[in-house]
Amino acid sequence: MRRYRNTKIVATLGPSSRTKRQIRSMIKAGVDVFRLNFSHGSHEDHRSRFNAIRQLEKELDWPVAIMADLQGPKLRIGVFENDEIELNVGSSFVLDLEEAAGSGRRVQLPHQEIFDAAVVGMDLLLDDGKIRLRVQNATESSIETKVITGGTLSNRKGVNVPGVTLGLSSLSEKDRGDLEFALSLGFDWIALSFVQRPKDVAEARELINGRASVLIKLEKPAAIEHLDELVKMSDAVMVARGDLGVELPPEKVPGIQKRIVKLCRHWGKPVVVATQMLDSMVHAPAPTRAEASDVATAVYDSADAVMLSAETAAGEFPLESVDMMNRIILEVEGDEAHQVLIEESQETPEPTVSDAITLAARQVAQTVSASCIITYTTSGSTTLRAARERPSVPILCVTSSIATARRLGMAWGVHSVHIDEEERFSAVVKRALDVSKSQGFAEQGDQIVITAGVPMGKPGSTNVLRIERVP
Ligand code: ATP
Ligand code: MG
Ligand code: MG
Repeated sequence: MRRYRNTKIVATLGPSSRTKRQIRSMIKAGVDVFRLNFSHGSHEDHRSRFNAIRQLEKELDWPVAIMADLQGPKLRIGVFENDEIELNVGSSFVLDLEEAAGSGRRVQLPHQEIFDAAVVGMDLLLDDGKIRLRVQNATESSIETKVITGGTLSNRKGVNVPGVTLGLSSLSEKDRGDLEFALSLGFDWIALSFVQRPKDVAEARELINGRASVLIKLEKPAAIEHLDELVKMSDAVMVARGDLGVELPPEKVPGIQKRIVKLCRHWGKPVVVATQMLDSMVHAPAPTRAEASDVATAVYDSADAVMLSAETAAGEFPLESVDMMNRIILEVEGDEAHQVLIEESQETPEPTVSDAITLAARQVAQTVSASCIITYTTSGSTTLRAARERPSVPILCVTSSIATARRLGMAWGVHSVHIDEEERFSAVVKRALDVSKSQGFAEQGDQIVITAGVPMGKPGSTNVLRIERVP
């Protein structure tokens, strides 16, 4: 099993993807990173999926990254007696503080802040803006609304109040509990939702204390004001267009997406484009052409990863969605125009030894038509710099750290291989040659480029570039 593409696929697990068998098929179909959304499901659900993925990793001998997405200060409705209801335009619908399961007439909204801020004429947007309710009457514990845009509304959907700033802290009590749980299981990535200020990231980092990598979700207009600083503080970034597109007018989102993707490339941070990418595949076996084009745009912009949310979590065609994404990526990456865009978008290296070696590795690989670049790494930082170069050949991350191997599943063009620790450079070279052949990246007689740090075992000290011929 090896991948023939550079752009990675992140997929969300939910009711449509719960069994080990389903998850195995998803890995085979192309999923590189699994996202477990702590806004939904119980700890036991998450634990069982987490364990299934780790077992599959062993079974398939294939490092897989797992991300815990913390809910963050997102406002959500409660649950319905029958899990979902139909809202018709013009009918009335009540939001209140009652814990009882909802019906076609009312549902719980467990956020006093909204009742305090509600005024007649104000709009509430639900489920990433798909449903619009207008306030007709408001008291401090109940809001009566009229349905302006209707549709199906299901359990725990998000609520946005456009234009109203609610004073919410970045990590709730629930988030702190979920975070400790996720860290105790050993998640590779922690995703922070609704990050607004650098302080939000600093706070979470302190709690995480190096036990996982930190991905920040950009989904609040306020975050865009501190973009540069936030990106620098993170290990990876997600353009979370669901909420971003509700709080900002839709026409603003594409430009912001491009700006974020470019900035992340500049800082060498993996960036994921997320939400509604193949949304119609929740209920249909094929996407709209516009959706296919949306995935393609992210690939042309050379984002590190594209993401599936409801398509794989709650949709009727989870496997087909992964397969479709895989096909779109392969097609775009095979397009000559894509190569040209990548060539044109080269970033300037930083004045460091690691960047000098990495840049040289890309050029050497091109000059001698090497079949791959092998980065022997502990922390993975050189591999990430190599990915930033967007070389025209695959990057192998060969590492004795399983955490690094998993984590780098998120990065553009990187294939991770976990090996036992090697103490001598000559042994590393031999391993690199073996690995390139056994993993299907090179054949006898091919040249490969190897980067490593000598003496071995000191993280962040890449200083060697070697060209070898596969025996
Ligand atoms: P977010 O804003 O964090 O993305 P979301 O509600 O949009 O939250 P997604 O992770 O994008 O959630 O997943 C899409 C839908 O899939 C959810 O709204 C929910 O209906 C369903 N879902 C996802 N994960 C689970 C789960 N673990 N258990 C039950 N339903 C889930
Ligand atoms: Mg969220
Ligand atoms: Mg979502």
